[in-house]
Amino acid sequence: MENSFDGKKHAEEVKALLRERMIALQHEYGRVPCMSVLLVGDDYGSQRYVASCEKNAALVGMDCRVIRMSADSSEKEVLAQIQALNEDSSVDGILIQMPLPKHISQAKVVATLSPEKDVDGVTDTNVAQLWKNKRSDYSRFNVPCTPRSAMRILEAAGIELDGKNTIVVGRSNIVGLPVSKLLMNANATVTVAHSHTRDLPAILRRADIIVSAIGQPKFITADMVSEGAVVVDVGINYDSETGKLCGDVDYENVAPKCRMITPVPGGVGPLTICSLIENTIDCFLRLRA
Ligand code: NAP
Repeated sequence: MENSFDGKKHAEEVKALLRERMIALQHEYGRVPCMSVLLVGDDYGSQRYVASCEKNAALVGMDCRVIRMSADSSEKEVLAQIQALNEDSSVDGILIQMPLPKHISQAKVVATLSPEKDVDGVTDTNVAQLWKNKRSDYSRFNVPCTPRSAMRILEAAGIELDGKNTIVVGRSNIVGLPVSKLLMNANATVTVAHSHTRDLPAILRRADIIVSAIGQPKFITADMVSEGAVVVDVGINYDSETGKLCGDVDYENVAPKCRMITPVPGGVGPLTICSLIENTIDCFLRLRA
């Protein structure tokens, strides 16, 4: 479909530029940036994501070191590992893959992570920077990778944001809230909807732009979307009927009404790892500034 944003193709173009950037960084600094990924346990989705991080880092020529710890590792061991990575001068960016096993406190993990190396913008320092700054200056602080990709898609598709009525569905710290702040920084008028929102269909029908981060398969149906709307579907779900990957949006039925829509798979996802690589480069450069 013509209005379907080809995230895979766009990610290939971004990766070609990132490959060139790695060569230039190697030339200027004597080494390429290095991201360390900490994977605790054997969550299937996390393993797939981390494998994709390794593959894409190799593709662009960035150093990526995955540290795997067993699911029964103690909280003390995990925190000590993060501290060691904070202090390792050969590591520029650290990704702590979530979810962590239940006995490990996510709050303690995030508090231990160095904000300077926090490639997914989860530490309090990076969150505060995002909320206190009116501009999204990615070179000054890290923002979470998925919201950064959603913004890149809107920009690449030439979607005007200034003054637009934008509805973000979902208010998680990793997707909904940061994407809503990035949209506000771009002067969109933003409504954040969530599970307590009354009459979501009516609210969605008034939207110029919808960003969905709910986590429920095909939740947004054609009757909830106005003609000419822009829809960015961040959801990653499995369709219970087909067992296939799908988004929060009923793509088949919603797409014909849209000016632009991102498919799942192949929309936001491929660009998220590009953002992760870019955040690592930003950490590398800030540590050398
Ligand atoms: P989350 O923490 O579970 O948050 C889901 C949000 O959706 C919550 O704010 C929740 O509201 C809201 N919600 C749930 N049911 C709703 C309903 N019926 N009506 C309106 N709002 C509703 O999930 P997340 O971590 O933000 O992830 C969201 C989705 O994005 C998931 O499918 C995840 O797999 C996907 N994801 C994709 C990427 C990517 O790179 N493409 C990255 C991260 C996540 P309450 O706050 O009221 O509970």
